[in-house]
Amino acid sequence: MEIEEQSICIDCGLCCDGTMFHAIDLESSDDLDPLRIRGAVLISDGGSRRFQQPCPAFDGTCCSVYEARPSSCRSYVCGLLESVTNGGTSLTAARQTIERAKKLASVVRERLDLSVETDVIHLGRHGLSTYLGVMKNQYEPDRLAVAFPEAAELIDVLQQDFGWINRVIGQRPADSGQ
Ligand code: SF4
Ligand code: SF4
Repeated sequence: MEIEEQSICIDCGLCCDGTMFHAIDLESSDDLDPLRIRGAVLISDGGSRRFQQPCPAFDGTCCSVYEARPSSCRSYVCGLLESVTNGGTSLTAARQTIERAKKLASVVRERLDLSVETDVIHLGRHGLSTYLGVMKNQYEPDRLAVAFPEAAELIDVLQQDFGWINRVIGQRPADSGQ
């Protein structure tokens, strides 16, 4: 992949900041020290290991452990980046889509009801993916668009443009439990 295409990832980070994923799978060959040093929360689940999102190595612009990032991060290509790479989407259009998604994510975070303290709301304040996943699964799209328009629009953008299916990075789609 060309550097120019990957440049859309700078200032995006939707796959690192908890918007798209609640955790990322780790391989036994991954060097965990750079993540541990930055305070990553590691989760063991049976034989598999993950680290929680938002990733503490995301500095708001890009990955601060880029050379030592886990293999799931190395191999992950979202639908938008894939489309830019194969010529289906221009860099300009991709940056506009990222800007739109980030603005929506910011609005949804701000609107999470501060007076309500449920696990989902708490997780949503921390990282949006779990909250969005629950909204997507509990509401019909039409109802969600009326009740939570920004969340509905964000889910739509993430699904349509980024290929988001609300799963852990590294899981095969067949394992996603969609
Ligand atoms: S969501 Fe896509 S465009 Fe954004 S940082 Fe991740 S791979 Fe790059
Ligand atoms: S290690 Fe780097 S690429 Fe992986 S989630 Fe964290 S910031 Fe993103």
